[in-house]
Amino acid sequence: MQPMLRNIVIVGGGSAGWMTAAALSSLLDPKEVSITLVESDQIGTIGVGEATIPDIINFNAILGIPEAEFMKATHATFKLGIRFIDWSRKGHQYIHPFGQHGVDMRGFDFHQYWLHGRAAGNSHPIEDYSLCSVMAKANKFVLPDPNPSSLLSHVRYAYHFDATLYARFLRDYAEERGVKRVEGVIREVRQHGESGAITGLLLDNNREVEGDFFFDCTGFRGLLIEQALGVPLTDWSHWLPCDTALAVPSEHHGPLSAYTQSTAKTAGWQWRIPTQKRVGNGHIFCSEYLGQDEATQMLLDGLEGASLADPRPIRFKTGVREQMWSKNCIAIGLASGFLEPLESTSIYLIQEGISRFISLFPDASLANVIRDEYNRHMRTEYEQVRDFIILHYKATERDDTPFWTYCRNMKVPDSLTYKMQLFEQAARVFRYEEELFTRPSWVAVMIGQNILPRAYNPIIAGLPADQVNESIESMRQAMEAVTAKLPTHAQFIARYCPAG
Ligand code: FAD
Repeated sequence: MQPMLRNIVIVGGGSAGWMTAAALSSLLDPKEVSITLVESDQIGTIGVGEATIPDIINFNAILGIPEAEFMKATHATFKLGIRFIDWSRKGHQYIHPFGQHGVDMRGFDFHQYWLHGRAAGNSHPIEDYSLCSVMAKANKFVLPDPNPSSLLSHVRYAYHFDATLYARFLRDYAEERGVKRVEGVIREVRQHGESGAITGLLLDNNREVEGDFFFDCTGFRGLLIEQALGVPLTDWSHWLPCDTALAVPSEHHGPLSAYTQSTAKTAGWQWRIPTQKRVGNGHIFCSEYLGQDEATQMLLDGLEGASLADPRPIRFKTGVREQMWSKNCIAIGLASGFLEPLESTSIYLIQEGISRFISLFPDASLANVIRDEYNRHMRTEYEQVRDFIILHYKATERDDTPFWTYCRNMKVPDSLTYKMQLFEQAARVFRYEEELFTRPSWVAVMIGQNILPRAYNPIIAGLPADQVNESIESMRQAMEAVTAKLPTHAQFIARYCPAG
């Protein structure tokens, strides 16, 4: 018999902690394995993190959570993609939609046809051939049609929601399945004298919590992974120099959009994320190039509705833990690293950390090979997401401020340089090692940021351009026509999942 872990302790009750608790409680029998979550109301959670990517649908589905119930509880809206404004150059915008461009492309990527059509004078941007983008621009929404021959089977979506309410929702779920919640501030992390493994926690009320495996979900503090185990952060701030966020909710103004909005500013960018009850806004910026007062004013000036609170500053450092699993502890969430929310990936990285742990679920001997595989996989995930985010900064034509001049000229990781060159010179892009972002995502951002390939696939280049343009134009018109008949995003929500 392999010895089983008996006593799992999750430290921290933000999205990371309660997502971990919910997922583990859905799998483990509480009579066999006890799960305890320690959190402190006094310390609280980060309280931001509202935009997601489609993978979260799987996470909720695996947990058996009914979608409409979850959406009501978290004030969620639908998201079809991200609108990027002023990133490539001032006055320019594009959409990075979920899903693909075009339909039924007979083995070739849609952008090959689009490039050929463009060379022959077609002036529609590539996003006009993405159903999710067409729907997002019209503020329309419908769930995907299960019939694969329907155009609407190509709808892909995620959510905007209140992350604090999501953690609360998952807490109820986890507690119903036997997770014990302990309230208190941790004063001391106890470790085994020789191995350094964590053995328990001492709380300020003198309560002791013992465990044989620990999840560090303590956010930027990294109470276990950094403060107790001493695992440093690999610093990536030379590639992603923003280090401060200001977050503020505002009232709704105008139609309920089904996309996240990201507007480039002088030394960073501003997000706009509509949930059912309010709009989440934030300004991410680099403090080396912009003072906090000026950044605050810029944020407030950029709000569409009245602000509902004072902007709250959050300092961060971009980077990743050198090991996310060290001894008998895994860091999940902000404790494991931070990449700015430009592509809404943090909650996904939490989900990936949990599911990779589950697929590698160790016995109590905690074999090194299992730990090493976890660290290898998660590091690769972080690096791939990092490259995709850097792309938005590097592929800019902006030189109107010192910040943008820095970004445009900075040397980026070789892995990204290679991808950009392959696209620039040959219009090809590939997905390596189960990478999160798909080829259409890379294409949407590269073309959106105005990387226009010098050459494309010669097989497509050999097709009659007028026929290609005719065929993609009928595709575009079909998308427009089907979208015109859909309910607005607000109408769909009011029918499907209105928050009380
Ligand atoms: P936290 O929410 O900080 O939770 C930490 C927990 O640890 C708390 O419960 C706290 O009480 C507990 N704790 C800490 N120290 C102690 C102690 N000594 N004793 C007891 N308990 C303790 N993600 C997205 O996917 N999409 C987004 O749009 C997005 N936007 C973001 C914007 C910003 C500015 C930031 C900073 C993050 C954003 N994120 C986003 C990331 C997202 O907010 C986090 O990944 C997510 O909320 C997880 O946070 P966490 O649970 O790791 O940490």
